[in-house]
Amino acid sequence: MRRIGLLGGMSWESSALFYDLLNRRVAERLGGLHSARVLMSSVDFAEVEELQRTGAWDAAGELLADEARRLEGAGAELLVLCTNTMHKVAPAIEAATAVPLLHLGDVTAAAVKASGLTTVGLLGTRFTMEQHFYVDRIARHGIGVVVPAAEDREVVHRVIYDELVLGVVRDESRTAYRGVIERLVARGAEGIVLGCTEIELLVGADDSPVPVFATTQLHVDAALDAALA
Ligand code: GLU
Repeated sequence: MRRIGLLGGMSWESSALFYDLLNRRVAERLGGLHSARVLMSSVDFAEVEELQRTGAWDAAGELLADEARRLEGAGAELLVLCTNTMHKVAPAIEAATAVPLLHLGDVTAAAVKASGLTTVGLLGTRFTMEQHFYVDRIARHGIGVVVPAAEDREVVHRVIYDELVLGVVRDESRTAYRGVIERLVARGAEGIVLGCTEIELLVGADDSPVPVFATTQLHVDAALDAALA
């Protein structure tokens, strides 16, 4: 098993889910007392959030590139960035180390493709929904992406930053997300990408009339496949 380097803490709530799922999957696949070989660099999310909010993406890229170098120095053989949003600075991370980065946009697109769907709705932070780095990465695989209307994007973003990254899971927010999903389906989405690693703490398959693609779970499975290849 190759040693997986996790760039985590964005937020730690979703990194905790990643770590938990990863070890459970290793136990399922290898049995016995097996668990994952992991190095984790968990950042202070307050610093990252400020850089996002102020548009200081170069500084955010440097911060994560530094962490990636630390993981490389400690022996990581595969890098996993446990957030969709920060894939905006994936090129800076990739330039900083020789360790391969398992890009979450590619992992997600591969899962959508394997399911035979051609158009998905995307839920995520406003950075992920409104900028090009993630939508284009999925579209590159021949998949159409529908994002929520402005009002719905506002709700989806607010729930992530005011609730989910703090571990707060509210029924009213689940209801609001269900409404957003329905409106995406009405606009042609055949599946829904939960394109923020905390969203699967709030909604899942039961909250959607079409298949959902939970990015933390997909990332865990892909990381494990790569680690065991
Ligand atoms: N974890 C979230 C994501 O997957 C949002 C938090 C962050 O900005 O990194 O996009």
